[in-house]
Amino acid sequence: MSDPDPSPKPDFIREIIADDLATGKHPTIITRFPPEPNGYLHIGHAKSICLNFGIALENAGIGAKCHLRFDDTNPEKEESEYVESIKADVRWLGFDWENDLYFASDYFEFFYECAVHLIKQGLAYVDQNSAEEIRAKRGNLTTPGTRSTGSDRPVEENLELLASMRAGAFKEGDCVLRARIDMASSNMNLRDPVLYRIMHAHHHNTGDAWCIYPMYDFAHPLEDALEHITHSLCTLEFENHRPLYDWFIENCPVPSKPRQIEFARLNLTYTVMSKRKLLQLVQEGLVGGWNDPRLPTISGLRRRGYPAPAIRDFCKRIGLTKFNSTTDVALLEFEVRDLLNREAPRRMAVLDPVRVVLENWSAETIGHIDVANHPQNPAAGERQVPISGEVWIEREDFMEDPPKKFYRLGPGRHVRLRGGHIIRCTSHEKDAAGNITLIGAEILPGTVGADSPAGIECRAAIHWVDVATGVDAEVRLYDRLFSVEDPDSAEGGFTSVLNPDSLKTITAKVEPALAVAAAGFSCQFERIGYFIADGIDHQPGAKPVFNRTVALRDSWGKQAGR
Ligand code: ATP
Ligand code: MG
Repeated sequence: MSDPDPSPKPDFIREIIADDLATGKHPTIITRFPPEPNGYLHIGHAKSICLNFGIALENAGIGAKCHLRFDDTNPEKEESEYVESIKADVRWLGFDWENDLYFASDYFEFFYECAVHLIKQGLAYVDQNSAEEIRAKRGNLTTPGTRSTGSDRPVEENLELLASMRAGAFKEGDCVLRARIDMASSNMNLRDPVLYRIMHAHHHNTGDAWCIYPMYDFAHPLEDALEHITHSLCTLEFENHRPLYDWFIENCPVPSKPRQIEFARLNLTYTVMSKRKLLQLVQEGLVGGWNDPRLPTISGLRRRGYPAPAIRDFCKRIGLTKFNSTTDVALLEFEVRDLLNREAPRRMAVLDPVRVVLENWSAETIGHIDVANHPQNPAAGERQVPISGEVWIEREDFMEDPPKKFYRLGPGRHVRLRGGHIIRCTSHEKDAAGNITLIGAEILPGTVGADSPAGIECRAAIHWVDVATGVDAEVRLYDRLFSVEDPDSAEGGFTSVLNPDSLKTITAKVEPALAVAAAGFSCQFERIGYFIADGIDHQPGAKPVFNRTVALRDSWGKQAGR
């Protein structure tokens, strides 16, 4: 799993595309990513983005393109805030739609023309029955449905009714426009599906120009065809809708014939992915917003410190299939850890500090120690870390009565301060509760950058922060938002299985360089994990705030016995 650049296996979609190019069916390829602007994008969308934009990039030599199209046909749940966030997220993931940005709402007039066309062909009619009546007459898998009364009225009357619907003569629910297909079809989607419904709602793009809005199944193929999309890639739940997609392409006056191909959506353990559920978490204040670092949203993952290339590698790694499954979130965390291990510079921070007095170091002298920025990458250089007569070390790096194999600090024992001297513990103090409050130590002169002197056992180096120059920082220790693998199937609903420990905020001691780091600076806190200076709350030089991206090791894997 340590392959740094997992290349996509030729999947079934790329095979179809290669075939269509080889046979000359298409001179080039046009794909699209069609989000509905009713929420922020999540890692599932990243799979679709990497697929659609990825295919365009791979075929850039023959002019292939990927459109970003906002599928904004439902005025009730859509907002411009979402449009902007979606654009920012696609760009951040590393993709570019160039001049191909479209809004389905720009095609409203065309959808209407198609509806008129279908009526004229005898292939659509206005149904004035109530929603309940329509549902009751649809039949079920074993019983064919029956058409509503009035479904056989003449073309002219249907045209007039549709015009009145558009003109606002009806209330919501008074009537709908339906396609005339097959009320006995074994595919329920073909039993005279609804094309238009009445909604007296304000639309973010078209304002109050329309009070009838097209259904997804009607609008989507027409959008694809208008844009000359060659391959319309969608998730498996639309497989049963494909005959309907093809029916619209066949029967409407469209300029091209796109082909719909379905693939399995991404599901991840320990999270929920549907926008509806993410919205609920946000609205009920169970998380801090759409960009809460615990959410699987792109903006949350970005704030958490997940690098875009790690998300792209993850999407390549999981590949494409035709069956639904759930991917272990540990695989995503692995990609993040793997990339950061290679690329993130190292810094020192102490999360649970205890003070060490270096007895033979003059307290007033601030010295500097050159510490490597990346142990495996000399090109990353070194930085000077100040040190004076006292340092913070991690409480767990000292044991009063250590077992033999504990190679860190204990009475009379030696340890190296990362990049610096070997020190020997000479004393320690405790409070009434038995907690260590102070450690005394002496430095062994001449041990910086040198092997341990003969007769001294020093096998480990621990991280440390100078007391005089170190700075307090807020550190947010994020963990998985849910405590069970499949929150969607929790008996009490997904909000009943939130992980109470998904966020712990502590004050840590950090080396001075971290206090002035820019927002978005990402590094390894040596021996602890990967952290990023928060993109929103971190103020360099004034109020350092760091988010834990991922721990060095997968502690959940251990718990689960993996
Ligand atoms: P959700 O179910 O999370 O609300 P959606 O499908 O309603 O998502 P859209 O904005 O309609 O969200 O999706 C835009 C594109 O992203 C669609 O082509 C959709 O198939 C794809 N997509 C959405 N969720 C996933 C997922 N989990 N895995 C892969 N692709 C997805
Ligand atoms: Mg959708």
